[in-house]
Amino acid sequence: MLRSDVYNFSAGPSALPQAVLEKAAAELCDWRGSGMSVMEISHRSAAFLEVAHQAEADLRALLAVPSGYRVLFLQGGASLQFAAVPLNLSSAGDTLAYANTGLWSEKAIVEARRYATVAVVADSSASGHRHVPPQSQWQIPSEARYLHYTSNETIGGVEFPFIPDVGDLPLVADMSSHILSRPLDVSRFALIYAGAQKNAGPSGITLVIVREDLLGRARALTPQVMNYQAQAAEGSMLNTPPTYSWYLSGLVFQWIKAQGGLAAMAILNDQKAEALYGYIDASGFYRNDVARADRSAMNVVFNLLDARLEPVFVSEAAAVGLMHLKGHQRVGGLRASLYNALPMAGVQALLTFMRDFATRHG
Ligand SMILES: *Cc1c(COP(=O)(O)O)cnc(C)c1O
Repeated sequence: MLRSDVYNFSAGPSALPQAVLEKAAAELCDWRGSGMSVMEISHRSAAFLEVAHQAEADLRALLAVPSGYRVLFLQGGASLQFAAVPLNLSSAGDTLAYANTGLWSEKAIVEARRYATVAVVADSSASGHRHVPPQSQWQIPSEARYLHYTSNETIGGVEFPFIPDVGDLPLVADMSSHILSRPLDVSRFALIYAGAQKNAGPSGITLVIVREDLLGRARALTPQVMNYQAQAAEGSMLNTPPTYSWYLSGLVFQWIKAQGGLAAMAILNDQKAEALYGYIDASGFYRNDVARADRSAMNVVFNLLDARLEPVFVSEAAAVGLMHLKGHQRVGGLRASLYNALPMAGVQALLTFMRDFATRHG
């Protein structure tokens, strides 16, 4: 199949903008007339430092990151941050507040329990993680050191429609699957982290945005490469960073800027999500059980009323170039991820297929 025949709905690693891949391909072997690939040069060279600094500047501009925050480009994925957050922001014996709104929250909680006492302050597991518990119901212990939540649950298709209001308590968010999908008030957060491979670049690099006053509190046993203060002091180059992933993420940031920034992304992402949810709800053939206000604009999970047809749906869709529509293995069903790089035409092609499939099998 040709790339031009395919729409890729993968949840991650996921589609990258065509223009980004073309630029990377054009300069793969001979980067900026250097006779070398950007992959082949020292991370400490002036040329690579320029790439790294430009990527940071573009990310800061996109998110309007206020002064007083450090932006880090780390390794280990969001999963390593599940451990890095408690190691950097708490001491043994501390209590930490976590909201449990899905399978990624659960993983963060399991990891945090290795290092501290976790109080689950909101929990949607009884409903199968199909809504965000309203903040009025949350019980946050006064001794909690921070509150952690997963602002978009990639597997359950649940997205917070609000930023929790926690006063002076440091607010920490795993934004892996919707960072850069719309404007964000970074000033509400103490720490934001995101694996890049959903909406911000390829796998291999993890974005961390941390308020400066939280640096310097890591436990003594924290591995140095996981220590935010140590990484901030070294410009995220305490050891060799994933230079190619950093470069590619930088191209994605430039692409988003060229599209009109996050305000433009939000308009496009809302149009895509509204079109798909609107059809699902009206179809009488497909369904989505997430509370409407809490539905993710990035990860649209759905089922067929007749679940036996789901594998048929996935294989017929792939045959016409609509790729990776299978739900996560833990929950089954179907999932269409509509990240920034997926154009409206991709949703239209999916809707055409869904209508046709419903007619043939309804
Ligand atoms: C994908 C994902 C993760 C895990 O990311 P890795 O980079 O694979 O560790 C964590 N949280 C959320 C919300 C995700 O979507």
